[in-house]
Amino acid sequence: ALEVRLASRPQGWPTEDNFEIAEVAVPKPEAGQVLVRNTLMSVDPYMRGRMNDVKSYVPPFAIGKPLEGGAVGEVVESTVDDLKPGDFVLHGLGWREYALPDAKHATKVDPNVAPLGAYLGVLGMPGLTAYAGLLEVAAFREGDAVFVSGAAGAVGQVAGQIARLRGASRVIGSAGSAAKVRYLTDELGFDAAFNYKDGPVVEQLRAAAPDGIDVYFDNVGGDHLEAALTVLNTHGRAALCGAIAQYNDTAPPPGPRNLALAITKRLTLRGFIVMDHQHLQQDFVREVGSWVRDGKLRYTETVVDGGVRRAPEAFLGMLRGQNTGKMLVKLAD
Ligand code: NDP
Repeated sequence: ALEVRLASRPQGWPTEDNFEIAEVAVPKPEAGQVLVRNTLMSVDPYMRGRMNDVKSYVPPFAIGKPLEGGAVGEVVESTVDDLKPGDFVLHGLGWREYALPDAKHATKVDPNVAPLGAYLGVLGMPGLTAYAGLLEVAAFREGDAVFVSGAAGAVGQVAGQIARLRGASRVIGSAGSAAKVRYLTDELGFDAAFNYKDGPVVEQLRAAAPDGIDVYFDNVGGDHLEAALTVLNTHGRAALCGAIAQYNDTAPPPGPRNLALAITKRLTLRGFIVMDHQHLQQDFVREVGSWVRDGKLRYTETVVDGGVRRAPEAFLGMLRGQNTGKMLVKLAD
């Protein structure tokens, strides 16, 4: 069986050389464990941070060891009563063909309730991030005008639609291509969207939000955050979710030059990590699950086929914007 290991730590942009594919024996489960044949795995922006040797809210990946991350797969051997061969589980040991999670860290999922990919995207961690970030962290209220950056990605596509479905006065998104902009306006019902590569974000945001914005859902940081500070209305709120524009920087970026606007406009800027918002899980699945079922909330995935060997390529592609919606790697049928 194959697994993907961290070969070396990147300086700046990672490359395929930072990864190594290794052949290992299919492991045997010990008491309390299940053997899972992974079907789909997730590649996520936060994994870039784990490639660095720095202390953060999750420990760094170890050199010479397999990487980790969200995956779904089929139980092939079990040592516990509540999981049987043929069951599908969500767990945290992706980047390998066969995984050995503790049963208590494997959540049973039903492929008849939702396609397996949804458990890694719209109804999984990215979806909960969108839900918690918009509703709890940014304290979204009906009638707010909302701007979402990275809007065509896994988190962004859900955040913008929750805002629309909860009664936003206007939903604006930014993304990195004309096709993604069309996806936002034509398929997801965003009121306006722009390609941040077409010109200064602040000018495009101002044009898209003539009455300003009340909420900013930040997936990008940098010029996007600075533009949002300029366009936010008095008492506006920003959920600081991610800063993907700077994950490969080798020097700390300059802060938003206009941060003092937070004072004069009485802004609330609040960072968050989704794992602190697990208490919303049930509300999230109920509300977003029913919108998905009714076709009111749409989503897409970009699935890289060809097995775990292509996981590094999928990860690097996601960092460069090759995905629309959630980026996944298919490991088995
Ligand atoms: P996405 O599916 O959005 O994939 C990443 C996207 O980032 C790319 O598709 C690309 O789209 C965009 N991007 C890359 N570089 C830049 C850049 N320089 N400027 C603007 N956009 C860029 O990933 P996720 O939805 O999984 O994650 C989105 C954000 O949310 C990330 O910042 C991530 O770290 C954060 N996050 C935070 C969590 C938390 O708990 N706080 C949990 C989960 C995610 P494009 O073509 O538009 O450039």
